[in-house]
Amino acid sequence: MHHFWYPRKELYCENVPVGEIIEKFGTPCYIYSLATLERHYQAFDQAFSSVGHLVCYSVKANSNLAILAALARLGAGADIVSGGELYRAIKAGIPASRIVFSGVGKTEAEIEAALKSDILMFNVESLQELELIGQMASRMGKEARVALRINPDVDPQTHPYISTGLRKNKFGLPLDQALEGYRLAREMPGLSPVGVDCHIGSQITELSPFLDALKRVKEFISQLEEEGIKIRYLDLGGGLGIPYRDETPPHPTYYGQALVKELKGLPYTLILEPGRVIVGNAGILVTRVLYTKDTGEKRFVIVDAGMNDLARPSLYGSYHEIVPVRREERETVVVDVVGPICESGDFLARERPLPEVAPGDLLAVMSAGAYGFVMASNYNSRPRPAEVLVKGDQFYLVRERESYDDLIRGEIIPWEDGHA
Ligand SMILES: *Cc1c(COP(=O)(O)O)cnc(C)c1O
Repeated sequence: MHHFWYPRKELYCENVPVGEIIEKFGTPCYIYSLATLERHYQAFDQAFSSVGHLVCYSVKANSNLAILAALARLGAGADIVSGGELYRAIKAGIPASRIVFSGVGKTEAEIEAALKSDILMFNVESLQELELIGQMASRMGKEARVALRINPDVDPQTHPYISTGLRKNKFGLPLDQALEGYRLAREMPGLSPVGVDCHIGSQITELSPFLDALKRVKEFISQLEEEGIKIRYLDLGGGLGIPYRDETPPHPTYYGQALVKELKGLPYTLILEPGRVIVGNAGILVTRVLYTKDTGEKRFVIVDAGMNDLARPSLYGSYHEIVPVRREERETVVVDVVGPICESGDFLARERPLPEVAPGDLLAVMSAGAYGFVMASNYNSRPRPAEVLVKGDQFYLVRERESYDDLIRGEIIPWEDGHA
């Protein structure tokens, strides 16, 4: 469910014609629907209303301050994976008491910042990290609440790059090592082991991997309890998929029901870390057609958005629906939609039937709200796109398009202006 629609021939975001936004802010441009974002968050949150729970939105999916602030207003917590995300989450008004910190490579500086902020919990991914957090917390006269991220060794049946819960992945700890970690954490004065965490992957479209993971986590918690280690938080991570094409992921309501059934009556607060399912379908990327060409072999539509603006197709071979912003009677042709970057891997769609387009036409790349702008780069010295948030019949620029000055900010020519 989202609020991008055609009341007549023109694509709208909520009550604003997409063309009007583009007239003002140009292309390429990310456009987000606040109503869609809020609806997704609330549907997800409500699915767990019958158990103690905390929804920690996964900041890495879309970290724009306005998006974070909108979620903060709804009571969301945050799952962060860097010091930069901690900074953003706090700036956006997400209370530290609702922030969990995941990731395999936390630096000392990041750990220190998180300890100073007094975040809810560290999701720890190695025994060395555990010891470091313990030592630092002791030194600072604090006690760090920690969960160990266990690797439940379940196959989420998703793209290998976004599968994280298999033994061969770099994430989490195998159960025997995790057990060792909890014993260590119990003894260390700077540590308070309060949770168990897992996150098995992303864009998961079946319930069974989540239920398998939950089962293993529950078994593991029982094992901990036998050793006298009492767990308060059961963090199941994120990963619920969305329909990009013909996938039929479980609706958050059913996902919630299935998990809640396994948790009813248990004394844990459930933590969830959804990212994609909250923002994915709340955003689009709008791009303008520059040229078309027919090489005899293939027909290309060359647009002004490239893999630097939206990396998912190039990175994962992901499918994003592409629609014309203005619907007209046109013949359907099979095309590759490609960007201006000097790489053959720079495409938004391949072998895609699309209504015939001409230079100047606008195309909308759908479901680009998650892992879209956040993965954008300046490759080919391309300023990153503008981001716009729509609320009803209003729209707001929530991130300026970068300028050429932004591109060279911080760069230094050593033999000029007294540097050498
Ligand atoms: C990426 C990530 C998430 C969010 O995943 P989605 O598929 O966007 O829901 C949650 N937790 C952790 C630890 C992650 O790395």
